[in-house]
Amino acid sequence: MITLPFSAHDFHLQSLALIAATRTLSSRGWTPATSSNFSARLDAKHAVITVSGRDKGQLTEADFMAVDMRGHAVASEHRPSAETLLHTQLYRHDAGIGCVLHTHSMTQTVASRYFARSGHVELAGYELLKAIDGVTTHDTAIRLPVLSNSQDMEGLAEAVGVHLEQPQMRGYLIEGHGLYAWGRDVGEAMRHLEAMEFMLSAELELRRLGAPP
Ligand SMILES: [Zn+2]
Repeated sequence: MITLPFSAHDFHLQSLALIAATRTLSSRGWTPATSSNFSARLDAKHAVITVSGRDKGQLTEADFMAVDMRGHAVASEHRPSAETLLHTQLYRHDAGIGCVLHTHSMTQTVASRYFARSGHVELAGYELLKAIDGVTTHDTAIRLPVLSNSQDMEGLAEAVGVHLEQPQMRGYLIEGHGLYAWGRDVGEAMRHLEAMEFMLSAELELRRLGAPP
């Protein structure tokens, strides 16, 4: 019997939690054409992440694999998604981060292109800001960074790193690509992702109505 360097029980539980979340996100059309990837922390040195190229509405436990915090496969023949490094970067940065969700919804993609030039989206005055951990009032603003897309994950991770000390930073957009959101567990990461999606959608709707930026 092979001894795994992480808990198989935790792998099972975290995979189940991610499967439930990704079914919801997929049913909303936020994971088109097998895109998007999802992960959860197993321990200080390992995370479970979706194997790349799978339909996110049909995931089973076999569609997950373990990686170390440098994004290398652990006890798996599968190749992790190229974007794994953007997940493990967050786990390395903050031991309190337990889940990272990355989706490609239409709202996220359009917002990432619309706001690319300013380099961020300002989300201010929304009651839903209170869904973000640590925010207790609508009367505040958070800046969601918009980073240039790249296939160079080391370079992209470096660009993300510049923003990670920002308080209440729980997500970022990549131009023409999608949104990364995270939290201490799958439930909190989902709440952050949904709140950001909602506020981005409201920002785009305001622009459509001709509201000044
Ligand atoms: Zn992506």
